[in-house]
Amino acid sequence: MYVANTFILKATSTCNLRCGYCYMFEQADRSAEYQPPVMDSAVLRSAACAIAAYCAKFHQPKALIVFHGGEPTLAGPAWFRQAVQVFGAHMPAACSTSFAMQTNGVLLNDDWVNLCAELEIGVSISLDGPPAVHDRQRTKATGAGSYRDAVAAIQRIQRHAGMQRLFGGVLCVVNPSEDGRAIYRHFRSLGIETMDFLLPVEANWDHPPSGCASPTPFADYLIPIFDEWWSENNPKVRITYFDSLLHLLVGSRVHSDALGGDPLTMVVVDCDGSIEPVDSLRACGNGFTKLGLNTKADPIERAFQHPTFQLALAGQEGLCATCRRCELRDICGGGYLPSRFRQANGFDNTSVYCADLTKLIHHVVDACALHLTSVTSQPCV
Ligand code: SF4
Repeated sequence: MYVANTFILKATSTCNLRCGYCYMFEQADRSAEYQPPVMDSAVLRSAACAIAAYCAKFHQPKALIVFHGGEPTLAGPAWFRQAVQVFGAHMPAACSTSFAMQTNGVLLNDDWVNLCAELEIGVSISLDGPPAVHDRQRTKATGAGSYRDAVAAIQRIQRHAGMQRLFGGVLCVVNPSEDGRAIYRHFRSLGIETMDFLLPVEANWDHPPSGCASPTPFADYLIPIFDEWWSENNPKVRITYFDSLLHLLVGSRVHSDALGGDPLTMVVVDCDGSIEPVDSLRACGNGFTKLGLNTKADPIERAFQHPTFQLALAGQEGLCATCRRCELRDICGGGYLPSRFRQANGFDNTSVYCADLTKLIHHVVDACALHLTSVTSQPCV
């Protein structure tokens, strides 16, 4: 049976940035235009009730509520107070519930940081690199970059004793025309110890990545980061993508939507209460994630019967014949689901990043093997 434990709540369907790669506003899906800008109180209550009922019915021991957007801080501090209070009132006592927010950091002043600390909302900030890299994509409506705001927000969190433990780190979208190692070094120079790198979700077989001379530009970006991180050997520095890779290599199960091919464990509730699968599937087409279900009328689990959701739940069983035969299948898992899409045959394809994933995984395997050889060849004392 499918188990959902991460619930993405679209607090807003509007944003104060205009990022070039955004799947909400800049790709095929136009559904955000028909959403209310902010999730209203009635929808918030219906979402909390539906999620609580699901967790109670299926005896979920824990749940993560992620406030997302658009830009979630545009909902305002009062909305967040109400949201945490409403979930607190409805979630079953036996289900340990935690909260997180993914933000661009533009509005995250000291009041916001204090509020997140008080409400115990973990905060992750989107940051793509130093100013010249970040500001190329992550711009305001005026065209000005948002690097300065994002880094100021990170520094506020780093200064706040209560927030340090709640900081989820930075999320960086890979841009293969940039120098991955320089971006990693920049993050480390800012004192950032937790980070993740995300392959662009808008790329699929209908819109493959273009403009790169190398056949494996994403691996070429990520491998120098891995090498630097690996040689740094600092257990405090965590890169989620590489942590997942290493866990999968030793046979652990990883609930990642980017690797491993386990069924996705996430449900999205849009601003109007619509129940949806992972929202980056919006990049596959206009209205692609719309199931015709809403928390005002439908239980969460009804979504799992829908054909679109079934695709997200199929995991490795849903892989194409090439992936099923692939020696890297248990680690790669076909990569991120939206990256396998092609209009003509749906998700019955390898990842559009297959060559990159192959090169990266082989590189990580070789690094581990070299490490094991050096450890086991040391004499016993
Ligand atoms: S996407 Fe490529 S590397 Fe990944 S499982 Fe499929 S064939 Fe293997």
